[in-house]
Amino acid sequence: MNKIYNFSAGPSMLPHDVLLRAHKEFLNWNNIGSSIIEISHRSSSFIKVAENTENDLRDLLNIPDTYKVLFCQGGARGQFAAVPMNLLKKYQQADYVNSGYWSYNAFIESKKYCLPNLINVVKYLKNGKKTITKFSEWKVNKKSIYIHYCPNETIEGLSIHEEPFFKNKILVGDFSSTILSKPIDINKYGIIYAGAQKNIGPSGITFIIIKKEIIKKYSNCSPSILNYSILDKYNSMFNTPPTFSLYLSGLVFKWLKSIGGLNKIYKINKIKANLLYDYIDKSYLYTNNIAKKNRSIMNVTFKLKNEKLNNLFIKNSVKQGLYALKGHKILGGMRASIYNAMPIKGVKKLIKYMNKFEKKYT
Ligand SMILES: *Cc1c(COP(=O)(O)O)cnc(C)c1O
Repeated sequence: MNKIYNFSAGPSMLPHDVLLRAHKEFLNWNNIGSSIIEISHRSSSFIKVAENTENDLRDLLNIPDTYKVLFCQGGARGQFAAVPMNLLKKYQQADYVNSGYWSYNAFIESKKYCLPNLINVVKYLKNGKKTITKFSEWKVNKKSIYIHYCPNETIEGLSIHEEPFFKNKILVGDFSSTILSKPIDINKYGIIYAGAQKNIGPSGITFIIIKKEIIKKYSNCSPSILNYSILDKYNSMFNTPPTFSLYLSGLVFKWLKSIGGLNKIYKINKIKANLLYDYIDKSYLYTNNIAKKNRSIMNVTFKLKNEKLNNLFIKNSVKQGLYALKGHKILGGMRASIYNAMPIKGVKKLIKYMNKFEKKYT
């Protein structure tokens, strides 16, 4: 097999061992004579897959019994609507922390269902780098029921690493591009949601970790397939779940457990990110515009000081087997997404390439 390293932001690289296993058992899963995507989601063997997947996620994230794990379709953008629809009535208020593209888009969507307050938290340091203001400076509204934020802005490569806390507010987090990258304290959150296609598995499934209290207390007239109390009542199988995505996500959870869980992967993720940022910081050609304390360990963005070299950089990287380094179109520049599945070797290969490129063209 030709070995390429895929730095795509999502859908993104999956662990090789997981793909091999799915490949091996695809035509005859569990010796049933057919593939897993051809069987009923209500069959006992599939229900076991769903249960194991949930239990492994619970183990990995240390999810307390006071929380329910739900899954549904519609991606993170589906949750942009589902959260206000489930938690609020039309004229109730919610706070939306704006740290970048995705959190801002959650705010825009919520306007259809509630009265959101936008809290801008990005500021620029004297050296021109982007950072996030202190929690104590966030202008939280007394009347808002929840506060929504995004701990990892996938497009900008900007993270809020500490976990915010606000008294008497439900904290809602869009963890799409950071879930399972490090241990977190679930108890601080009311709702955590994540589309699978960044750091979990194939697109098509969204995981929701929600405090049971909230399911009981709030339920609204949202579409049944996005309604938390209906999802809860039917164990996330009110309608047909994306069975293949669920199964493959389960294999990824098992893989994560087998390599040592979140403490271990966090160490590896920090090593990868540090290698890359350290190299960028000491290079002449590349720059990153995020303050150190807010740099993402999942999505590393950088620009070439000589923008005329952008196309050549991309073209040559592909020849080296380094895929999908082009940054998001709204920002330009480059982005290396180095989710859990990216081995340290892949990052080292990228740095070697960047170094050679710099030497040759500057
Ligand atoms: C990718 C992404 C989204 C959008 O996810 P969809 O599943 O395409 O709806 C939302 N938020 C964050 C943080 C993301 O990384």
